[in-house]
Amino acid sequence: MIPYKHEPFTDFSIESNRNAYLEGLKTVEAYLGQDYPLIIGGERVMTEDKIVSFNPADKEEIVGRVSKSNKDLAEKAMQSALEAFKTWKKVKPEVRADVLFKAAAIIRRRKHEFSALLTKEAGKPWNEADADTAEAIDFLEYYGRQMLRLKDGMPVESRPGEYNRYDYIPLGVGVVISPWNFAFAIMAGTTVAAMVTGNTVLLKPASTTPVVAYKFIEVLEEAGMPAGVVNYIPGPGGEVGDYLVDHPQTRFISFTGSRAVGLRIAERSSKVNEGQIWMKRLIAEMGGKDTMVVDKEADLELAAQSIVKSAFSFSGQKCSAASRAVIVEDVYDQVVDRVIELTGELTIGNPVDQNNFMGPVIDSAAFKKITDYIEIGKEEGRLVAGGTGDDSTGYFVNPTIFADLDPNSRIMQEEIFGPVIGISKAKDFTEAIEIANNTEYGLTGAVITNNREHLEQAREDFHVGNLYFNRGCTGAIVGYQPFGGFNMSGTDSKAGGPDYLTLHMQAKTTSEML
Ligand code: GLU
Repeated sequence: MIPYKHEPFTDFSIESNRNAYLEGLKTVEAYLGQDYPLIIGGERVMTEDKIVSFNPADKEEIVGRVSKSNKDLAEKAMQSALEAFKTWKKVKPEVRADVLFKAAAIIRRRKHEFSALLTKEAGKPWNEADADTAEAIDFLEYYGRQMLRLKDGMPVESRPGEYNRYDYIPLGVGVVISPWNFAFAIMAGTTVAAMVTGNTVLLKPASTTPVVAYKFIEVLEEAGMPAGVVNYIPGPGGEVGDYLVDHPQTRFISFTGSRAVGLRIAERSSKVNEGQIWMKRLIAEMGGKDTMVVDKEADLELAAQSIVKSAFSFSGQKCSAASRAVIVEDVYDQVVDRVIELTGELTIGNPVDQNNFMGPVIDSAAFKKITDYIEIGKEEGRLVAGGTGDDSTGYFVNPTIFADLDPNSRIMQEEIFGPVIGISKAKDFTEAIEIANNTEYGLTGAVITNNREHLEQAREDFHVGNLYFNRGCTGAIVGYQPFGGFNMSGTDSKAGGPDYLTLHMQAKTTSEML
């Protein structure tokens, strides 16, 4: 087997690559606006009631109309997943991993179609969409290989006359609730981690990006996944999500999304309902309030470039995005001025146009939330860039910077999930790290410094799950920088890491007397 290596990003300065993306766009444009059924036990179930997925850059353009699950259909899907579990759990791990490898090969062949679909459905600029597709491929290749490593369990000791084994077995039916911001990568990664380990899955993708998830299930089917192993049931969180989280036969929940929804799931899933014979396991990847720290002995150009890219790529809609910068006072003005200058050069508009660095935010609720925060920011700090939005054709918010903020201000404390960054001044490096840690989250962070002692200080004291030195704080790569955070950022389940799959399994010790 070829060792795992991450999928390279596409260089769109090469004409043939640009043309390949445009071909993908044509393929997607030919199927825009179609109706999609649920997939339950392999069966297509079309409902009257639909979730309408539209293009956030152009509200008039419908990407697809997706069937909407309800409690009855969720129950039907649960029964089908329970039935499929009986056989899937006995399928050899090698065969399960093969489904992932085949799916990766299929996606690689249709790479630009998937990226173009992400541009249309999630508003992702070309390079961001390309990275999302690449990461989906990475999850398939990486988790497939990880399963092969775990298939014979872990070594344990045996005394003379004794044969001990330590094996991993699946859990049961898992509910996967996936986000829209990595509508392909995280949706696919959380789904296949659950299924390659021998579980069966009820997938409830985000209601804003359900079409890419449908296309992915088709790929899994083509790759040999048996009916009922992953069931596709988009629907409202308050109805379908709650029903399945509460369900006594749900064995585990893998959730990626907001802190508020994550905590609601944690609370509901901890309750033992009638007929339930286990404690549900929860894997939760929640928010972030991620900080770029800039020291005085630092490459200040690198600092400014990294801040702008980490804050505004994909319109700041990554839980890893830099939503705060803390800069030591000696270089504060210089870095802030350069950040403002670079931000002024950013282009914003429909992401089908390759020249636009930034596209829209995901929907009207996001637009309202972000613009409301901008009003709060105007009270709390000094608006030095952006501060405006336009939702006439799509949901566009200009890259916005607030400087001179109190570290305890709302802009510095609350997750906005949009193109807004707050900046605070620190008197020295130690205070900068204190300010960076002054949050209930702990997902990503970055330090820009040439001072070795300060790097070591940050390594010890900067309390985040993903800490980066002399680079931006987004863009973790599967198998290279396992991703997940501390505190209110979630259960520190490291997606794309060597221990991620074991979260979806239970270990069984057998001891035989010889
Ligand atoms: N893994 C992504 C990154 O490192 C962020 C994932 C997320 O936003 O949920 O940028």
